Amino acid sequence: MTISRLPLADWPTPVEPAPRLARALGLEPDDLWIKRDDLTGLGGGGNKIRKLEHTVAQALAAGADTLVTTGAPQSNHARLTAAAAARAGLSAVLVFPGEPGGSGGAEGSGGSGGGNLVLDGLLGARAVWAGDVDQDGLAAAAARLAASLPAAALIPFGGSSVVGARGYVEGGHELLGQVPDLDTVVVALGSGGTMAGLVAALGPDKVLGVHTGAVDDPRTVVSDLVSGLTELPPDPGALRIRDDQVGPGYAVQTDAVATAMETAARTEGIVLDPVYTGRALAGLAAAVADGTVRRNRRTVFLHTGGLPGLFGHPSVARRWPGPQVLT
Ligand SMILES: *Cc1c(COP(=O)(O)O)cnc(C)c1O
Repeated sequence: MTISRLPLADWPTPVEPAPRLARALGLEPDDLWIKRDDLTGLGGGGNKIRKLEHTVAQALAAGADTLVTTGAPQSNHARLTAAAAARAGLSAVLVFPGEPGGSGGAEGSGGSGGGNLVLDGLLGARAVWAGDVDQDGLAAAAARLAASLPAAALIPFGGSSVVGARGYVEGGHELLGQVPDLDTVVVALGSGGTMAGLVAALGPDKVLGVHTGAVDDPRTVVSDLVSGLTELPPDPGALRIRDDQVGPGYAVQTDAVATAMETAARTEGIVLDPVYTGRALAGLAAAVADGTVRRNRRTVFLHTGGLPGLFGHPSVARRWPGPQVLT
């Protein structure tokens, strides 16, 4: 018997109203709800848990004793792969670009210490630094490493294989059960599996992806994954993807993202991160402003986690050094 899913969290995750945030964005108070996929517990939580339930089950069924994966040094996926490995009794090896503690501190590389890297170490993962490589070079380094180990399973970048994306087909059905009158779910688009699973479950009209700059061609990445998940995949042109929030690059915090993060924090006490969820909310604000997300419809913001990345991000402590002094 093959295991098809390894339970790693308590489902369903909550859906909470966000009336003050809704008003701040120009929506009616009851229009906006937040699906809390940041509250998936294991290893600090986040959207990668739904995918890992499937990819780790596949690795266990194949007899693996080690999980090998890749990502930026501040990868939430790498951290959650380390946590899932610990929970499943496996080892984890994380293959990162750059050098350990090296020049990675510059904004734009996402390579400063702290944040997710601290948790990777705490969770017992080992790291391999692949030097100056692009995305393909990084994937090749991980594949070589996995092939050199006796029983390693390669977990793809961001967990976004067709198998991993099944976790968000389930997530989409779960959300529809909680919010039957859903009009639009807004989600950060990184490696694409989260959006792809949601599109497979809900159709292309109900899912708005906000491109973060993690991949070069998000439309192709998402539509290829959707094709592996459904019999009748939508036309790639039908996917709703905004690419106006990337700014100077994946790891750079833009002013629009900083504003979105402050708005969520100061209206609802919800903490977003500068790379993914902050971009997703900035994209939602832009979508309300240009009329593609409308009032008196039910919009759900998918909170995909990422809090540790905030503490590994070079610009965050500069922008928010502490509370203002009461004068
Ligand atoms: C990885 C990640 C995403 C994007 O999910 P993908 O399935 O890779 O597109 C969004 N938010 C956070 C916090 C993430 O870590």
